[in-house]
Amino acid sequence: MSKKQFKAESKRLLDLMINSIYTNKEIFLRELISNASDAIDKVYFRSLTEDKLKDIKQSDLQINIIRDKDNRTLTIKDNGIGMNEEELEKNLGTIAQSGTLKFKEEMTGVDDKQNDQDQTSLIGQFGVGFYSCFMVADRVTVISKSVDNDKAYKWESSGADGYSIEEASKENRGTEIILHLKEDSEDEKYSKYLEQYTIESLIKKYSDYIRYPIKMDCERSVPKEKKDKDEKTEYETIVEEKTLNSMIPIWKKAKKDVTDEEYKNFYMQKFFDFEEPLKWIHTKVEGQYSYTTLLYIPSHVPYDYFGKDFKKGLALYSNGVMIMEHCEDLLPDYLGFVKGLVDSEDLSLNISREILQQDKQLRVIAKNIESKIRSELESMLQNDRVAYEKLFKAFGMPLKIGAYDGYGMNKDKLKDLLLFHSSYENENKSDYTTIKEYVSRMKDDQKEIYYASSETIDKIKMMPQVENVLDKGFEVLYLDESVDEFVLQIMENYDGKKFVNVSANNIDLDTEEEKKELQKSNEENKDMFAFMKESLGEATIKDVRFTHRLKNHPVCLSSEGVVSVEMQKVLNAMPDQGNRDIKAETVLEINEKHPIAEKLKALYKDDKKDELKKYTKVLLDTAKLIEGLPIDNPTELSNLICDLIIK
Ligand code: ADP
Repeated sequence: MSKKQFKAESKRLLDLMINSIYTNKEIFLRELISNASDAIDKVYFRSLTEDKLKDIKQSDLQINIIRDKDNRTLTIKDNGIGMNEEELEKNLGTIAQSGTLKFKEEMTGVDDKQNDQDQTSLIGQFGVGFYSCFMVADRVTVISKSVDNDKAYKWESSGADGYSIEEASKENRGTEIILHLKEDSEDEKYSKYLEQYTIESLIKKYSDYIRYPIKMDCERSVPKEKKDKDEKTEYETIVEEKTLNSMIPIWKKAKKDVTDEEYKNFYMQKFFDFEEPLKWIHTKVEGQYSYTTLLYIPSHVPYDYFGKDFKKGLALYSNGVMIMEHCEDLLPDYLGFVKGLVDSEDLSLNISREILQQDKQLRVIAKNIESKIRSELESMLQNDRVAYEKLFKAFGMPLKIGAYDGYGMNKDKLKDLLLFHSSYENENKSDYTTIKEYVSRMKDDQKEIYYASSETIDKIKMMPQVENVLDKGFEVLYLDESVDEFVLQIMENYDGKKFVNVSANNIDLDTEEEKKELQKSNEENKDMFAFMKESLGEATIKDVRFTHRLKNHPVCLSSEGVVSVEMQKVLNAMPDQGNRDIKAETVLEINEKHPIAEKLKALYKDDKKDELKKYTKVLLDTAKLIEGLPIDNPTELSNLICDLIIK
């Protein structure tokens, strides 16, 4: 019989397991039980539809744990689907799937030996799967018989030197994993895994909800039968098979019977997260449709969240049996980050995906879930601001996109859940605000909600237009994400208060008198502005004019119409825009109170047209730079500036 080598990455994970210094070695049992339970699920499913498997009775499905102290072996046996030769090879010779794969991905990039410690700290936070048994065993034998095959096979490995597969004999379908436990050492007494108490408590801790009975021979002390009733009671130890797990899934228990620890543990195991969830929502609904939901909000963005393979959705159960892992229809896109499950007794077990989509009950459940999560988020925002801000940092983007998508059809549902940065700092020293809070702080004479938009908060704070609005005592929302301005535009207003970009032309900050004054001076200088506009070339900008919106700064670009300068940048950066060049209608605004205004007027008056042309060009380019827009000819700008310096 020849030895086969593990695939490279499997070998690496295996080495890690064998040499593990990880203290939580006990999780191996949870992993093996979970595999056994999956294998039973698979055979049970098939028995529902396949004639040749129709004799399989649900009540016979079980997992057995066999402790053999003499041989130092611990066996986990199931009567699930089993594996044939190729499956043993494929599944146990390579890092296969789900948990294990995630673990592997998390490890990549971590350098080999030196960071073993980091790597081991990850073990058990993921489902590391089958290989975890090498943490406690120095030899592992797997005997398996597939439900589709008459032959059984034995897979065996002592770890690093590879594995072997040969034919074996096994009467019934299923898999037996025999762990030859490592010798006890100073640090670790592996023989504890042969003790009844250890196994009982590990099953309670990690696998209590497994739906199939996990059975084990257990000792029990019972009073001996008395010959004479005055005789002293004597006890004897009997051995009997006992089911170690309650088989009640955590979500089917009453809330008061589930500890926080259990909720968290369940989440981390079930959804392969290494961090605790931020929040969970456990509800039982009785009525027209009865169902239970257990929903979790992760505390961080899953690594694959923005990837195309990310699957949103909740697991769907019919009375404790999973019928679908990711039922997309149960969650709106904007809540795609929520994990969890729905269990309903009213759903049929072998319902197909297509029928499910039209299922009225499912739609009602989905609607209820949506509003339940929203109201939980609202109360979190009210009562635990710090946690909500953490959530929003992670998942604010989908919520904002949700408000914008579908021409804003969900905007009213979401408007109070959105946070924006702002010039106001709340008591948590955070600059996140809701629009409602902004409105509540608005000054009596403030008619509009002001916002400024750029790539970063720092850049926004440096914008000349912002300074002036702040100076007048108004609060400004700082929009630093590309979707932000689109969201506000689709919302148009909040409680009748319009959203206005501080860079937009329609911002209305001046008193009537100031407005008149500005109008007058723009009128007086209109020929100069016409010349300046023309000197920049056809259609470069819409207008040139004086402004009061700048406090100390000389120039800025403002926009007219719906597309702002920032939106222009975002739209043109989108991949599917083709050659379409979306342009904001921009106006070059010059601070009337800045000395540059006098200079320009003087040049025009003295008919120094060439110089005025140069100045105009420099002003436009610098205004563009401030806005983060590209300039057409940087070399020309550099030369112009030098000319002006030398003079
Ligand atoms: P994962 O469970 O994350 O897929 P594992 O390394 O634990 O990864 O297992 C690899 C594969 O081996 C499983 O996906 C399954 O196909 C198979 N397997 C493991 N244990 C059993 C078992 N007891 N019965 C049948 N198949 C099993």
